[in-house]
Formats: sequence, C-alpha cells, structure tokens
Amino acid sequence: GPGFAGRMARLEAPATIAMSMRARAMRAEGHDVLSLALGEPDFATPAAVIEAAHRAALDGQTKYPPVDGTPALKAAIARKFARENGLEYALSDLIVSNGGKQVIFNAFMATIDHGDEVVIPAPYWVSYPLAARLFGGVPVFAECREADGFRLTAAALEAAMSPRTRWVVLNFPSNPTGAVMGLADMEAIAAVLRRHPGAWILSDEIYEHLVFDGARHHSIAAVAPDLKGRILTLNGVSKSYAMTGWRVGYAGGPPGLIRAMARVQGNATSGVCSVAQAAAAAALDGPASLVAEMRDTYARRRRMVVEALRAVPGLTCAMPDGAFYAFPGIAACMGRTSAGGRMLRTDEDFAIALLEEQRVACVQGSAFGMGPYLRLSCATGDDVLMECCARIAEFVGGLD
Ligand code: PLP
Repeated sequence: GPGFAGRMARLEAPATIAMSMRARAMRAEGHDVLSLALGEPDFATPAAVIEAAHRAALDGQTKYPPVDGTPALKAAIARKFARENGLEYALSDLIVSNGGKQVIFNAFMATIDHGDEVVIPAPYWVSYPLAARLFGGVPVFAECREADGFRLTAAALEAAMSPRTRWVVLNFPSNPTGAVMGLADMEAIAAVLRRHPGAWILSDEIYEHLVFDGARHHSIAAVAPDLKGRILTLNGVSKSYAMTGWRVGYAGGPPGLIRAMARVQGNATSGVCSVAQAAAAAALDGPASLVAEMRDTYARRRRMVVEALRAVPGLTCAMPDGAFYAFPGIAACMGRTSAGGRMLRTDEDFAIALLEEQRVACVQGSAFGMGPYLRLSCATGDDVLMECCARIAEFVGGLD
C-alpha cells in the first residue's frame, strides 16, 4: 500500500493487548482459555450511574460538549479532589478527557520536544513510554526494586534526573506491582523534585481507592503543595467505578498546562461523550460504599491468589498493597523446559508456554520493564482465579 509514517516505528501495540488477542484467538479455536491479561474490573457499572446517563440523553445532553468537560462534571471532580485528596482545584484547573490515557497524550503532546526525557518508575504501565516516544521524548527508567517493596526511592529518582528531564511520572498505587507510597516515601520524592524545577510531574492516581490492609494513598500535590504549579494529578472512573467502557478520565493541574491540553484535545476529539460525562458525575457524587465493596473484594482476591502462588515451589510473590494485580517472580523457572518441551529463557517464553500448554493468559513482567515476573490481573471471579492458580501450579510443577 501507500505506506505509513515514520512515527509508527515508535508506536508498538501494548503487550497487554497482544496477549489478550492471542488468548482470544485460541478461544475462537475452541480452547478453554482463561485470561488474566487485562486490567479490567469484572464488576458492572453501578445501576444509578447508568440511569444518570439515560436521563442525560433524554434531557437533551446530546450536543457537542465543551472541549474541556461539562461544568457539571468538572464541579463533581472539584468536589472529589477536595473531599478525597485535600486538593482545591478551580474549574479552570480541570480537564475531562477520553480516559486517563488521553490525559497523558494531551499532556505529552503539549509539552514534549524532541529529545526531552520522561522519567518513569519501572516496572511501569506501558502507555507512559509509548506516549513519550510517540512525541519524540526519551523514556528514562527509575528502577523500583522488589527489595524496596517496588516503591520509588529518592536515590533512584535522583539518579534518573537530568537537565533534559521534562516529566516525572508517578503511578502509585502502581500498575503492575500494586506498590503504594507512604507519606514519608512521598516526602522524600518531593524533596528530589524540588531540586529539579524544570520538570513537570504527572501523578497517575487511577488506582487510589484500591488500597488494602490499612495502606493509604497520598497525592503528591497534597503532600507538597509548593509543587502544585508543576503537578498534573490524573484520575478517572474506569477502575474505581467499573467504567472502563465509558472512557472518562480527568486531571487537575496548573491552568496554563490545562489550557494547552485542551487545545490539543479540541483539535483531536472535541471533548468527551456528553452522556458518559453525566454518568461520571453521578459516579463521583455517588455513595462511597460502592467503592469500598469493590475494594474489599479485590483485597480478598489478591490475598487468595498471592497465597496460592506462594505455595508453588519455584514462584515468589509479594503481597501488593494496592491495585488489582499480582506480580509473581519466576526467576527459579528460567532456563528450564516446560512439559510441552518449550525452553523458558525469558518471562515472555514462560507466558507464551503457559498460554499454549495450560491455557492461562497473563503478561510477562518484562513488558512492564521488569523481568522475570508475570502480571496477573485479579479483577476476575474467584473460581477463575483459583483455576488459573491451579493451572500455573501444574505448569511450574511440570518444568524440567
Ligand atoms: N493509568 C493506569 C496506571 C492504568 O492502568 C490505566 C488503565 O489501564 C489508565 C491510567 C487509563 O485508564 P483509562 O484510559 O481507562 O482511564
């Protein structure tokens, strides 16, 4: 055909999507594949939220919305930030986008020039380096070691900073490790950021409500109000309210940055589906008990999965404080051969062999910048999770 742009070479399909497509193809061939590859809540969107969308549509909220979000949703977001994060944002400090993902695209497109560095704690959600590269940026990874509970240390951050650092990404609770930063951890990070006034800070707090066993989430903009003029606080309704399909994310930040992001968005999508915005406002203003119920379910499931994995000789598994993933280490399985005769040199080899031989889909840790690990999404039913753990145990038990 006529060909593609050079930038496509920098835009891979995320490994998460690649793995679930493989799983889907096997399922279409009639195999009983179980997938823990995608970070998608198995809960249904709350009925009251769906009703709010229905009412909005009947009320005539069916025209082009304001590019940066409807005043009603922005007011609900301002209330949410004040109530849950101790952050005061005026409506002009807020933007609503098509998922948290578009917030990141808007922000990076508006600020990154060729060669600018984006510091990303690793392991990381794949979209940060992909988006950075797409706009000519250079990802620089700050390792979050298992020995540190996968938390970002001040030393690792400082080592990654340079005069070219344009952005520092923080994502706690973390996808894929579930790591949560305590208050002292965040204060140490803020101290480093103060020494580097030329860098924007993206704090992706989309898993903030999914923290377990007394762990607490801290927003960097609340911990370090003096840095608020450089911080973009990202959130959304996908994970907290089981609303992945509605595509509503949002951010609070300095008005100049928000305006630039809105300019990008206005040229790309003209804003977010009006009916979905009404639904998101209802979710944010709705009862906190819904979120608490989901959190308790995720907490219980992740304990069940982690304990089942720990019982398998050859696997190690930290107990995550947040999000809904387990991130087991598989170092002891490397260099061995599966029952089906596959040599496991990398965690990707492991993930592919597990899918082919035991029909369990998950994603290799190296796709998130740290191997050899696996990421298992625990956002699915107990029976499926237990069956997956049993199949993983059989797979590992069969290694030679
Ligand atoms: N941030 C993190 C860390 C995520 O894991 C995800 C989704 O997987 C998102 C942001 C974006 O979610 P959405 O675009 O559905 O708001």
